[in-house]
Amino acid sequence: MQVKTVPGGRVEHGRCPQCGDDARFRECIATKTWTAYSVLDLADSKERVFRCSECAELLQLAPPPEKVVDPATKAKLLALKARRAKLEMALRAKERAVEASKVRKKANDELGELKRKMGL
Ligand SMILES: [Zn+2]
Repeated sequence: MQVKTVPGGRVEHGRCPQCGDDARFRECIATKTWTAYSVLDLADSKERVFRCSECAELLQLAPPPEKVVDPATKAKLLALKARRAKLEMALRAKERAVEASKVRKKANDELGELKRKMGL
């Protein structure tokens, strides 16, 4: 198991149930990789844990409370999301159009080259 500290993650203060010290608990991500035949990494399971600053014990702490979002803000966020999706779609269509015109131009250039070579 690999345990990595989350940069800028939560730090909680409290008494550690393991060592009984007043400790800080730093947010970490514990990654367990299930390996088959010692070459194939099958799956990663990632878990949010907190590490005691005193004894390095890993603990499960309650997740932070969900932020309460009022319906108006939520609607605004949804509208923004929809708008962004639309813009992204338009952008992709534009990119495709640019790509197509590039291909057309290249084909025309090549055709022109061919015509010159053939003395047309
Ligand atoms: Zn501890």
